[in-house]
Parts: sequence; structure tokens; C-alpha cells
Amino acid sequence: MAGKRGLIMGVANDRSIAWGIAKAVAAQGAELAFTYMGDALAKRVKPLAEQLGVPHVLPCDVTDEASMDAVFATLKEQWGTLDFVVHAIGFSDKNELDGLYLNTSRSNFALTMDVSCYSFTAIAQRAVPMMTNGGSLLTLSYYGAERVMPHYNVMGVAKAALEASVRYLAADLGPQNIRVNAISAGPIKTLAASGIGDFRAILKWNELNAPLKRNVTIGEVGNSALYLLSDLGSGVTGEVHHVDSGYHTVGMLAVDSAAE
Ligand code: NAD
Repeated sequence: MAGKRGLIMGVANDRSIAWGIAKAVAAQGAELAFTYMGDALAKRVKPLAEQLGVPHVLPCDVTDEASMDAVFATLKEQWGTLDFVVHAIGFSDKNELDGLYLNTSRSNFALTMDVSCYSFTAIAQRAVPMMTNGGSLLTLSYYGAERVMPHYNVMGVAKAALEASVRYLAADLGPQNIRVNAISAGPIKTLAASGIGDFRAILKWNELNAPLKRNVTIGEVGNSALYLLSDLGSGVTGEVHHVDSGYHTVGMLAVDSAAE
């Protein structure tokens, strides 16, 4: 990654998936910029940025066009070009990440789609003009996009739309050698995940039922991101790559019929 410059959006603290990715790509020599959401998080994100020697740490609320414009204007001025962007951003009202999907409100549906799905496209619109030598865009998804997961509700619908966006953006941007992919990560205990009802039960279920019989770490997501963001993944676009201990492959657990 030496000589590559990338923007990492979504570090909230040292448990964030974005932080796992930042560490993996920085270890291989990438030069990074971070964005963070809101003053409260600045206190946590700035010391982390210092640890990796990240010079640009910029506020950004993806629901605010001016705030996104300002980030890319700064990067254009400081760097000129950009090689990759990591979009590790999601939000929904936690009151609706519990109970039935049926009860989703119009306002939270719109907000969830805006922050968790549309923002990836809005970011691509701003990043692409700076990717003059090709590039790589990466977002984070979850298995709740493909199958019903308890309490994931409207986030699952937004992730399904996000995964479709990955494919449409990959088709649009392939001719410019800009690759667009998602990592579908297994459950990891983060700030965002703590808003999901019964998240501890989801973690335990995955640990018991995934082929690897454990949950994944942000370091493992980071290593897979490194492949997709670097030239190692040069032939890969439009892909949703599962980093979930293999959980998505399981239809039914083997039953020990002798024990019945
Ligand atoms: P996290 O809480 O560390 O990160 C979520 C980030 O989204 C935070 O940095 C937050 O500030 C940011 N954000 C929310 N609203 C924003 C807005 N309006 N503008 C800008 N930023 C905003 O949690 P995480 O689990 O690392 O989440 C990162 C991504 O990974 C999310 O898309 C999440 O859905 C996805 N993901 C998480 C898991 C998991 O189990 N933790 C599994 C699969 C996918």
C-alpha cells in the first residue's frame, strides 16, 4: 500500500471495524485520512489517528452535503488524488432495531436508507473525480441483507440496497478501473452493534454455528479489506465478500442421530 492514499470513514473508537481496517492498511504503508461524526467522537478518534500518524482528521455527517463537500475539498487541496475509500457507516433508530420489521416508521426508514445506503453513493460521487489512477471503494454489509436476522429489521433492508448499490457502482466505475466491493462481516461487538436488540444472543449463535466455531475480529476484517483495497484484489469488483467464519454457508447443523 506504500504510495496509496485512502480515506477511512467510520472510526468511532478502537472497537470500530473501520479502525481494524485502518490498522491493516497503515501497517502496509498506506497514507490515511479519517472522518468522524460529531464533536463527542473527536476526542476518541484524534488519539487513534495520532497512533497511526494520520494527518487529516475531518468532521463529516453524511446526511449533510456541505459537510461531505468540505471533506473532499480538503483532500483535493492536500492530496490531489485518492486511491481508496472505506465506508464503514451505518445508523438506524435503536427503538426500531428490536421487535418487528413491520413496525418500521417512514421517517426511520428514510433516515436508515440515507445514512446506511445512499451515503456510499454520495461519497463515490465525490471520490471518483480524485481517482485519476483507478481506485477502490469498500463498504461494510451484514448477512441480514440476505436472510432475516432477528431485530436487524430496517438495517437489513438498507444493507440489501447497499449491496445492490455496490453492483451498480461497480458497473458504472469499472471502465475507470475503480473497483467497488463490500465486506459482509460477521457480528462484532461495536458501538453500532450495541443498538441491535439481543445482540449478545446473535454473537453467541454465530460462535456456536459458524464453521470456524468462533466470531471474527476487526483485525480479520481489516486483513480482508487490505486485499480488496490493494492491488491484490485488482480483478475483483461488484463483490460481497463474507468475513464471517463461514456462517453464511450453513443451511443446517449436522445432527448427531446416534444421540437422539
Ligand atoms: P461503529 O459504531 O464503530 O461505526 C459506525 C460508524 O458510523 C460510527 O463511526 C458513526 O459515527 C458512523 N455514523 C453514524 N451516522 C453517521 C453519519 N450521519 N455521518 C457520518 N458517520 C456516521 O460500528 P461498526 O460495527 O464498526 O460499524 C461499521 C459498519 O460495519 C456499519 O456499516 C455496520 O453496519 C457494519 N457492520 C457491522 C457489523 C457488526 O456486527 N459490528 C457486522 C457487519 C457490518
